[in-house]
Amino acid sequence: MIRILQSKARIGPALLVGLALLSCVRSPKEIRRVELLMGTEVDIIAQGKSEPALQAAADRAFAEIERLEQKLSRYREDSAISRINQQAGIAPVAVDAETFMLVQKSLEVCRESSGAFDITILPALLIWKIDAKNPQPPADAEVKEKLKLTGCEKMVLDREQKTVFLPEPGMGIDLGGIAKGYAADCAVKILKDNGVSAGIVKAGGDMRVFGGEGKGLAIGIQNPRASGKVLAKIYLKDGAVSTSGDYERFYIFNGVRYSHIINPKTGYPVSGEASVTVKAQSGIESDAWSTALFVLGHERGLEVLKTRPGLEAFFIEPSGESHSSQWFRENLIAVSGD
Ligand code: FAD
Ligand code: MG
Repeated sequence: MIRILQSKARIGPALLVGLALLSCVRSPKEIRRVELLMGTEVDIIAQGKSEPALQAAADRAFAEIERLEQKLSRYREDSAISRINQQAGIAPVAVDAETFMLVQKSLEVCRESSGAFDITILPALLIWKIDAKNPQPPADAEVKEKLKLTGCEKMVLDREQKTVFLPEPGMGIDLGGIAKGYAADCAVKILKDNGVSAGIVKAGGDMRVFGGEGKGLAIGIQNPRASGKVLAKIYLKDGAVSTSGDYERFYIFNGVRYSHIINPKTGYPVSGEASVTVKAQSGIESDAWSTALFVLGHERGLEVLKTRPGLEAFFIEPSGESHSSQWFRENLIAVSGD
């Protein structure tokens, strides 16, 4: 969960997401706005010279996220992603360059994470009914059945025509693990283009920070097994931080926790980690890789990170044991109490 504690006012638990911003850079003018978008709270803090200009910049940034939700949401019947899913097994769907880029980037991360990040996971995710009332785990036979409909290499992408085709009926893609980070990147660009000198865009477990002064903004990392408690913090001037975890969208059935991140190898929700926080230059990277590394787990994940300069991660197991890549080892500050 991200908790943002502005220097002026402490925001209540309702805003707890995955990281906490414990302090904000000071500047003559600062605004903060929160809107519900992409199924989560999108929180924008913007600092600059004039309040009206900041409000106008925030309006444009929220409109940008709304634009992206329209076309990338699998929850909206008329989105580009839903059109691709509706035509699975029927025909390729022509999409705009931005949607095509996101599907292509997802395929790239799928390959680089040995299939851990896989947007074709949708049919294998839906049977877990994570958002239903009184959900129960599906039978193993059903898990195996739906798993046959996944696999990022099955997607047929035509670069010339910018079409995406899912060759088997019942296949489906879900950009839930990458599009919020990308939306934060786009919102930051809009804020900067509109004169905002420093700010934060936070969408669920994904946060972009820019214009931090001195050592930067303090961002707290949530204890995944103690809601509202921060267990460590980092300072960041510019960049992206994303957290993926098993404590936001989950249920416990017969003492077993089932969350919304599915291991594409097994079709079962990931159980080896409680949360992974990733630091990267961009939100699209940090978002996709927090999900990928959550699936890979800390052993394989730390190996992958050795070959990916600029990507850093902090893993917390359900036992509370943690594992850091080099940057987190050198920059993570333990926070006791709160
Ligand atoms: P992340 O780790 O970043 O992503 C986890 C999500 O990725 C899962 O929820 C699933 O969607 C997907 N996933 C699961 N396993 C894998 C895997 N192995 N590889 C790749 N992806 C995987 N939620 C709603 O309830 N209502 C909405 O209307 C709604 N609209 C949305 C619109 C958009 C454009 C997006 C991007 C998301 C929307 N969501 C909605 C989804 C909600 O925001 C998710 O809970 C969120 O995307 C999960 O993000 P996270 O940062 O918590 O976790
Ligand atoms: Mg993600």
